[in-house]
Amino acid sequence: MSDNRPMVLGTYNQKKRAELQRLLLPLAIELKTLEEFPQAIEVVEDGTSFAENAAKKATQQAKVLGQWVLAEDSGLCVDALKGAPGIYSARFSGEEATDEKNNDLLLEKLEGLPPEKRGAHYVCHIVLSNPEGDVVLESEDKCHGRIVTQRRGTNGFGYDPLFELREYHRTFGEMGPAIKSLISHRAKASREFVHQLGMMLAKNPALLAK
Ligand code: IMP
Repeated sequence: MSDNRPMVLGTYNQKKRAELQRLLLPLAIELKTLEEFPQAIEVVEDGTSFAENAAKKATQQAKVLGQWVLAEDSGLCVDALKGAPGIYSARFSGEEATDEKNNDLLLEKLEGLPPEKRGAHYVCHIVLSNPEGDVVLESEDKCHGRIVTQRRGTNGFGYDPLFELREYHRTFGEMGPAIKSLISHRAKASREFVHQLGMMLAKNPALLAK
């Protein structure tokens, strides 16, 4: 039997789960996605910021499930598009959006732009809610790069084949999960989060018990 503490992650996205699971290993937390909770609700992400949407996903689900819920909202902000798609990253190409369609649309919108005008950053906002629906902890961070002119690599998800880290001359698609888990927006936001939650658990080891 695993000694890890189970915790609900407010998403159905297995790739997000895999990345966050790796980042939360120091706290021996085992993340469970909403697939394992048939009573989970569909949270309407109608906030105006990553912070608001992450809080909605964590607190609303926590109250319904009566459990601690971790949620994150993330996205890509492109300078030449005045920060779009931002909080609309998952649905950039419309209701039937897929990663492929979103990447095609992004390439189309940036067509002809020189490298120096293709700057972009990812944002990740993480929220932990207690079972009563109170935000107990949150953390946000960014990762800067630029959008290349054609897909490179198959690692990661979403816009990763197009997002190049300038210092590495490689896209997240070309980097393995080990490097992404050190330098990504999710990694940076998680680092502070893990530190804070670690201190809370040290003071109160039974904190996450139901
Ligand atoms: P959310 O699930 O509502 O937070 O939407 C996140 C969307 O932002 C994803 O569907 C991707 O399009 C994009 N995104 C967020 N983080 C990443 C990442 O690490 N790599 C690639 N795309 C990402």
